[in-house]
Amino acid sequence: MHTISDFRSDTVTKPTPEMYEAMARAELGDDVLGDDPTVNRLEQITADMLGKEAGLFVSSGTQGNQIGLAIHCRPGDELICEFGAHTYNNESGAMARIACAQPRPIKGKAGVMDPAEVESLIRPNNIHNPRTALVTVENTHNGAGGTIVPLENIRAIGEVAKRRNIKYHLDGARLWNAHVATGISLKEWCREFDTVSVCLSKGLCAPVGSVLCGNKSDIERARYLRKQLGGGMRQVGILAACGIISVTKMVARLAEDHANARKLAEGLAAMKGVQLDLATVQTNIVFFSLPGRERELPALIEKLQAQKVLAMALGGRVRMVTHHEVDEEDVERALMAWKTVLA
Ligand SMILES: *Cc1c(COP(=O)(O)O)cnc(C)c1O
Repeated sequence: MHTISDFRSDTVTKPTPEMYEAMARAELGDDVLGDDPTVNRLEQITADMLGKEAGLFVSSGTQGNQIGLAIHCRPGDELICEFGAHTYNNESGAMARIACAQPRPIKGKAGVMDPAEVESLIRPNNIHNPRTALVTVENTHNGAGGTIVPLENIRAIGEVAKRRNIKYHLDGARLWNAHVATGISLKEWCREFDTVSVCLSKGLCAPVGSVLCGNKSDIERARYLRKQLGGGMRQVGILAACGIISVTKMVARLAEDHANARKLAEGLAAMKGVQLDLATVQTNIVFFSLPGRERELPALIEKLQAQKVLAMALGGRVRMVTHHEVDEEDVERALMAWKTVLA
């Protein structure tokens, strides 16, 4: 058990002792000149794992996604995304400002879009329409509760994108979780996509960073755009050293987070007044609501905090996320705390 049981997000994880050591020993160079061997190694390892030609170390998931969208869209283009997508809702409007594209959202089921609906929203060539440049999928889908977008669905949307000649981007910030939960290889998950962004700093514990992967020419353009955004960092191998540990050693452990989330969800679902759909608890995110008590949520979360358990109120619901720094005892403490608070 930890001093504070922090279930607000898996972004609260800190570097492991092994990462601190790797930082101290990392071989460094000027990455803007292409000279940082540690960054180059992280980019190549990640690209290889995802089955892509090249990778680009970026400062955040938001930067990886928005550069990914921007390299495929001309200003004024339209892109199709899911209604609850992180790229659309949680990246501070960067889709408009950085990617310069307008969204055409689709309401999915647990984050899963209907391929026929995607196809129906691709605009005909007509001077009055925006040009549809791209479709993007999020896997796992954060807002839907860390749900897994099935591989058949990813392939069906990929087939539409290919046939209609639009690009295909994956917000794979949480792809590691989908991989561990299903046993389906990362390469298999990524095959259809032109670009994929994966996050190092959630369950994988790196302090900073994501990697955007794709073919060589797309990543070359992405490198330009990253520099324009002020994301050209110099001896950044000090961070990439942690990322190498993330991708090579921290992925399999996500299974523990999934087991803890399941335990937490089952305990919560059994409590009176809690509405929780266990079918959506597929990885490390647990969402639930307290029907009729929505306005009390901030006060309840404050009471929970007095018992050293942190959760997050999001859109009238409670979100709790498991990660490297909450263990089984933290889960037990959280369940006890909720029982008291709800009584
Ligand atoms: C966390 C996350 C991101 C990246 O968020 P940052 O705050 O930029 O690190 C992107 N997409 C999804 C689905 C996420 O969960």
